[in-house]
Amino acid sequence: MACAIEHAQFNFVAVACACAVVRDREGRPADVTPFAMGAAAACLPSLPDVIEPALHPNHRKFFHSVTVFAALGYGLHRLYQWETEDDWQRLARMVGLIAGAAYLAHLTRDAFTAKSLPLI
Ligand SMILES: [Zn+2]
Repeated sequence: MACAIEHAQFNFVAVACACAVVRDREGRPADVTPFAMGAAAACLPSLPDVIEPALHPNHRKFFHSVTVFAALGYGLHRLYQWETEDDWQRLARMVGLIAGAAYLAHLTRDAFTAKSLPLI
């Protein structure tokens, strides 16, 4: 099992890189946004383990599954496409994207362990 510090490091790198790639594809100029997004995601290293605590090696159930990974990925895509109209919506969108990306990064790191992720 990966520990919280390892998850935080992975979250930082994965989310910062993903954010940088998305911003580059959109033609936005390089700035500190990917680092800020990565740092924020690193502050939420173990969201799936809050729901399913890592008390034993077989703790990964539904909320650590490939099914949740796919559904959350689709939800993040929809959230990313949300055209916000005011500051509160932009804040909600940003918080959702950071928390969702942190959750996905955690599952991605868990997928590359010996136990991997269950399908359901
Ligand atoms: Zn986990």
